[in-house]
Amino acid sequence: MAPPLALDIDGTLTSPTDQIDPRLFEVLPEWNAPVVVATGKSFPYPVALCHFLGIPEQVVAENGGVVCAAGEVSFQGDRERAEAAIERFRERGGDLGWDAADTTNRWRETELAARVDADEALLREVAAEFDLEVVDTGYAYHLKTPGVEKGDGLAAVCDILGLSSDSFVAVGDSENDVSLFETAGESYAVANADERAKAAADTVLDESYFDGTLSVLESVRSESTA
Ligand SMILES: [Mg+2]
Repeated sequence: MAPPLALDIDGTLTSPTDQIDPRLFEVLPEWNAPVVVATGKSFPYPVALCHFLGIPEQVVAENGGVVCAAGEVSFQGDRERAEAAIERFRERGGDLGWDAADTTNRWRETELAARVDADEALLREVAAEFDLEVVDTGYAYHLKTPGVEKGDGLAAVCDILGLSSDSFVAVGDSENDVSLFETAGESYAVANADERAKAAADTVLDESYFDGTLSVLESVRSESTA
């Protein structure tokens, strides 16, 4: 039996140009153990990914703010506080950087995100005022409630499914994956990972993006059949 997986999306299941690597659709539907998709994106994105992969909706979204497994969903984190902080950010001339549709934040339940070209210093200043923190995933700045983490989300999914988090293999690329790496039994940072993710991972891979992730999936799967 292959080990259960906890997989980040952006930078981990994607190509350098942000597309989901199509090889994912060959590997994950056949994976004979639970797969948890753990992302900073809002809830609909990982749900859609699971749906179109044809795998169960076992999801940690919004960096741990939303947890879904076995048809149950729960929320951690304070979106209203994030909204108040963003209002202050805008009053001071800040701009989240999204268009009118804002599909990045539209369905967020527990945190809000700004584009990577937003005023980071101002965002951090306002976050501190509202007792929030800013997490830089390399794809967005997330304004979130401290203590809400992907790793706790994975632990919550494990409780629901009756699994040990120690049995999980985690793959990720950024500082929001550090808690995931600490919770899973075995952790891998792809070569494009930031320094904090690399420092926290058991293994830093030679290959980047989904090339790195696929190398892990192939090696842990062959170990399990050896
Ligand atoms: Mg990522």
